Amino acid sequence: MEVPCIDLAAGYLELKPELDEAVERVLASGSYVLSENVDAFEAEFAGWLGAAAAAAVGSGTDAIYLTLRALEIGAGDEVITVSHTAVNTAMAVLKAGATPVFVDIDPETLGMDPRLLEAAVTDSTRAIMPVHLYGHPVDMDPVVKLADDYGLAVIEDCAQAHGAFYRGRAAGTIGKAGCFSFYPTKNLGACGDGGSVVTNDPDLAARIRSLANCGQGGEGRERRRNVFRGDVSRLDELQAAILRVKLRRLSQQVRRRREIAAFYRRELTGAAVALPVEKDWARHSYHLYVIRSKERDRLKRHLAAAGVEALVHYPVPAHRQPAYAGLARAPLPETEAAATEVLSLPVFPQLTKTQLDRVAAAVGSLGQTEPGSP
Ligand SMILES: *Cc1c(COP(=O)(O)O)cnc(C)c1O
Repeated sequence: MEVPCIDLAAGYLELKPELDEAVERVLASGSYVLSENVDAFEAEFAGWLGAAAAAAVGSGTDAIYLTLRALEIGAGDEVITVSHTAVNTAMAVLKAGATPVFVDIDPETLGMDPRLLEAAVTDSTRAIMPVHLYGHPVDMDPVVKLADDYGLAVIEDCAQAHGAFYRGRAAGTIGKAGCFSFYPTKNLGACGDGGSVVTNDPDLAARIRSLANCGQGGEGRERRRNVFRGDVSRLDELQAAILRVKLRRLSQQVRRRREIAAFYRRELTGAAVALPVEKDWARHSYHLYVIRSKERDRLKRHLAAAGVEALVHYPVPAHRQPAYAGLARAPLPETEAAATEVLSLPVFPQLTKTQLDRVAAAVGSLGQTEPGSP
């Protein structure tokens, strides 16, 4: 494809000297886990978001799972979230032993619809987990208000929201904890798996660090004293060193994503597709640039024929996956509709003007090349 949906190697080449040096330094140091790069990355990432603490872990899924464990949310408990998301959201809740309860999404932002939360609360509800999907924040004020009214924890799934803001506050710093992923494709991506919890509660961060490291407790990563039945989910030094280099470019790269989104908005206004919204209270981080079309599959083929790779995030909602069937308690019509209509256009910082023009021309010419199609 002339225009891939994402090009991770281009991201590497842009920072090659610094990344190579950082990796070589770790290799030569002989310290590969729980050392200076992880400590420094935690401080730098928390600082970048304006949060008190970060606890680096092995993946975004584990950031959610370990947050739930640290808050003692597990068997018999319910966590309200959405089904239109990466399946990892529900998977992490189930891994903690709790039950995900799905509410439908707002058709405009494609994120959790806060108006539906109250009806989903039961005696077993312990937390609400909004997902800032694609990089557009969920409308958090009503979520936090309802959570306060019912004594629930708010845990933000920020896997796609590095650099997103809600009413001037960084996504991930609004609830009890923000759970980030550094899966390679994310706005801040490692060269492998990684994740972090961010919180203004340093004790929560310490419990998560302990749980991620075999449940070993005490100050300064004290070893051989197991205060929790923990897990093994550490961010390693190589990934932390890579992430530190990339974090220094993250603000600039999110700005570039926003420039690309602005270009698409200018060029595609008037095309036969629905463009993503950015509410006036939101700063979208454009992890994905998701358009909607009732002829999504035809559009995807049309783009492919023009050399443009577009992907579907996500074609099958969590509650329709065989492994998670039976989890939906109420109909989720907006979730079902989104799954048939969403299409992600290429958006990554290294896209060239030529590539962007090609995407715009390809989307704009739908219908002209296949006049006879339905
Ligand atoms: C990527 C992602 C996760 C999981 O992150 P991993 O690092 O892949 O475990 C969770 N939620 C959402 C919305 C994601 O996009």
